[in-house]
Amino acid sequence: MIAQKPPQKQKEQWQVDLATSFSSLPAFLDYCEINYDDLSQEYLASKDFRFFVTKSWASRIVKGKVNDPILLQVLPQPNELIQKPGYSLDPLSEQQQSPIAGLIHKYHGRVLLTLTGQCAIYCRYCFRRNFPYQENQFNRANWENIISYLKENTDIYEVILSGGDPLIMGDNILTKIVSDLAAIPHIKYLRIHSRIPVALPSRITTSLIKILKMTRLLPTIVIHSNHPQELNNEVCEKLRSIKNANINLLNQTVMLKNINDNGKILAELSHKLYQAGAMPYYIHRLDKVAGSSHFYLTPHQENKIITELLSLLPGYLVPKFVEENPNAKAKTPIPIKF
Ligand code: SF4
Repeated sequence: MIAQKPPQKQKEQWQVDLATSFSSLPAFLDYCEINYDDLSQEYLASKDFRFFVTKSWASRIVKGKVNDPILLQVLPQPNELIQKPGYSLDPLSEQQQSPIAGLIHKYHGRVLLTLTGQCAIYCRYCFRRNFPYQENQFNRANWENIISYLKENTDIYEVILSGGDPLIMGDNILTKIVSDLAAIPHIKYLRIHSRIPVALPSRITTSLIKILKMTRLLPTIVIHSNHPQELNNEVCEKLRSIKNANINLLNQTVMLKNINDNGKILAELSHKLYQAGAMPYYIHRLDKVAGSSHFYLTPHQENKIITELLSLLPGYLVPKFVEENPNAKAKTPIPIKF
């Protein structure tokens, strides 16, 4: 008798979208109608930090435009291979702030969990591009230790799901994570840091939103968007669906040379976010991770950009300009000179 295979669970649309993303540089550049010749340096850079781009993200790149801001955020560059003084593998010393695998406890009352190293796109400036996810991701042993740590530390009131991108995990795992956290009485808030609403909008499903609506924890989603061109109609609709579910929705941005180094671009980003239901929250100074020096802006340039931004927006649409210092107990506001 021939044994029957168990029926395969049908993939959800977002999983199909993820599986059909670009992982080949030539295929991606062909799609973007960018001419290339020798890609050996780009390949080396992509060995150092993975290249992977969803079709949704790629669809927002202007074809044939070599300096497109959506393209430049994900395209491996030869200058990632140049070692620059002051740039390090772990610019925020996160590994020294990790009392147990998978958990970073830096600030009072809140912890961050690095659940997965996977993302829907890989941003070339990512400060965790060298993070040892293998030892720090979600697995049974790490999770048991994390839950014990949270139970013992009764002053922790907020847990941040991060990564990588936590929304790359399936609904079943997320349901378990959220319900285990909700079972700890002193945990009050749940925060999710994710680029997925922007990079893979099909992941924002009604079942995902239901997981966050049903929990007793107060949920916040912090998305990451750097340029108004990222926010197409589909992304804005998904952001509105999050907001309409009464989930607090914030955005953080990284200030990047040749991407958003302009007050007008950042002002347009704030307007688009606000109209889609997301409040501009932080704009970060680049963390000096090795391989990211081509995104660096001088303090003088930053000052000019923020001054222009302040002149264009009402105060409630201006994100806080901050930097993260490895030993500081909070994000550090960067003063502006007028
Ligand atoms: S999505 Fe976030 S974690 Fe992933 S590469 Fe980009 S910045 Fe890093």
